[in-house]
Amino acid sequence: MVEANTDDIGKAIELNIGGHDYKIIELPLKHEDGSKELYGRHLVKENVILINKDIAESRKKETLIHEVLHAIFYNTGLEHDERQIEAISNGLFQLGVGDFLWKT
Ligand SMILES: [Zn+2]
Repeated sequence: MVEANTDDIGKAIELNIGGHDYKIIELPLKHEDGSKELYGRHLVKENVILINKDIAESRKKETLIHEVLHAIFYNTGLEHDERQIEAISNGLFQLGVGDFLWKT
């Protein structure tokens, strides 16, 4: 699903989310539906979060919060939808949580 050669990889960090070690990897990402942008993706089975390398730094930070929230909701079995995730991730981004996570 995601193919990349190592030259494409940007920043790679690790975060422990709910007791699971996740790899956060910057890559050029393309949505399967070519008309949509893909900012990030949470690969549940692999404990990987992908962040689109080609978006603005502020978007990367907000996207990381967004995908971390998906992981938290997933790990805790809570029902959620995309609008809830977007509202919370935007609120946390404004509080500076993205700066905190992204420099980890
Ligand atoms: Zn989402």
